[in-house]
Amino acid sequence: MAELYHNLINGEMIETGEWLDVVNPATEEVIGKVPACGKDELDRAVAAARAAFKTWSKTPIEERRQTIQGIAKIIQDNHEELYRLLTSEQGKPHEQAKGEIMGAAYMAASQATLALDDVINEDSDARLSRTRRVPVGVVGGIVPWNFPVMMAMQKIAPAMLSGCTIVLKPSPFTPLTTLRLAELMKDAAPPGVVNIITGEDTLGPLITSHPDINKITFTGSTATGKKIMEGASKDLKRITLELGGNDASIVLPDANVEKVAEQLFWSSFSNAGQICVAAKRIYIHEDIYDELSQAIATYARTVTVGDGSQQGTGVGPIQNKKQFDRVCELIEDAKDNGYKFLVGGDVDPSGSGYYVPITILDNPPEDARIVAEEQFGPVMPLMKFSTDEEVIARANNSEYGLAGAVWTGDTDRGVAIAEQLETGTVWINEYLHLSPFAPFGGHKQSGFGAEYGVEGLKEFTYAQVITVKKDAMA
Ligand code: NAD
Repeated sequence: MAELYHNLINGEMIETGEWLDVVNPATEEVIGKVPACGKDELDRAVAAARAAFKTWSKTPIEERRQTIQGIAKIIQDNHEELYRLLTSEQGKPHEQAKGEIMGAAYMAASQATLALDDVINEDSDARLSRTRRVPVGVVGGIVPWNFPVMMAMQKIAPAMLSGCTIVLKPSPFTPLTTLRLAELMKDAAPPGVVNIITGEDTLGPLITSHPDINKITFTGSTATGKKIMEGASKDLKRITLELGGNDASIVLPDANVEKVAEQLFWSSFSNAGQICVAAKRIYIHEDIYDELSQAIATYARTVTVGDGSQQGTGVGPIQNKKQFDRVCELIEDAKDNGYKFLVGGDVDPSGSGYYVPITILDNPPEDARIVAEEQFGPVMPLMKFSTDEEVIARANNSEYGLAGAVWTGDTDRGVAIAEQLETGTVWINEYLHLSPFAPFGGHKQSGFGAEYGVEGLKEFTYAQVITVKKDAMA
């Protein structure tokens, strides 16, 4: 019997009488049921958030900080239960699930230390002009299925710190851990400050167009991001969009093959490749292409694909059937076009679970679908390049602009290349490192606005300038 999970509205765990099934992608078994909310529940959640905003926005920031840090501690204290549940609904191996849970706590607690100080624009004999940041109001947070808890806290923590209240919607594919966390933290903040409701994809547009929500913070696909922008345009809601990516990693000829092979592998295959900033196109200089591609392939053959709850699993299943079908389609397309596979490529349709084998392609053309499109699965195309100019142009030849990496023994050359990449983040000689103090966001169709850092916090506020004319009444 699947366990029933409840939603958090106005400090209480509620149900609607209608339930949605949540499936374990490793077994395809229904492991939980969550409320199917519609307009009525959304209206209740927004009303609670609106009422709570009156006092929460006036609550001293120090108190807001402590409340967020209290929630981070609840996550830490319950991390074992949470990461096991996360693996069962999302599929990622226990070690990576633990990383997400502990990372969510760390990022939230760290973000809580940020400040938005007033800025003096002018302090002359004539006037004093000051910019202060005021919270936008009620925030609608919409979260995808690849990092459900990290993304939820990435929205809850800065909303709370800025003085906003929030109505958060997890993905219908992965709501369980977030709802368990909701239950654990329901008394940590005043009622209505954080509300978490679940529903089908139809709930998202209701949030986007709700007249009493002031801002949408969204993480998900570029296609949905465009719909959010359309929905939010009706009343000019503020929006932050963290969307898809097709990130390029560039490996220069002076990179240490032994050292980078394993790191490059995990930059693509962590979370079964379902990371917005996963390395999705790997460009290797022709001088080291053969040696490095063989080293990556040799390492890949040591990694086990399987149920994330089993010890020794390195790569779990794809999170849901729709995404599984999409990744299979890209692999089939590569086969149909005769591209060469270094590793994998044969999906076994028998048995249960959405498993795709670790798949590495050997120098497919630039216009191959598996290169040009965001795969979001355990697939890694390796491509050869000759010159810096050529590889920069190829890396930038994408509608996306989320992140990228350069691997080199010469960090100055790495930085020079990084500065020419059209992306929001570039790593030199590492991957996937996000800082709570640095803005994270995309260029081009990877979205706009930022999360994390002071820039991320500002997105939950309006600027208000107060100008005082001195001696006007003298
Ligand atoms: P998705 O766009 O299908 O869904 C994301 C969320 O939006 C879900 O909660 C979904 O229920 C909701 N939704 C669906 N239709 C909606 C609508 N019309 N209006 C409002 N909400 C709606 O994305 P996904 O498949 O869950 O996630 C994968 C995508 O997310 C990938 O493209 C990935 O690159 C991207 N992503 C980006 C980042 C980032 O920070 N840039 C991080 C993680 C994932």
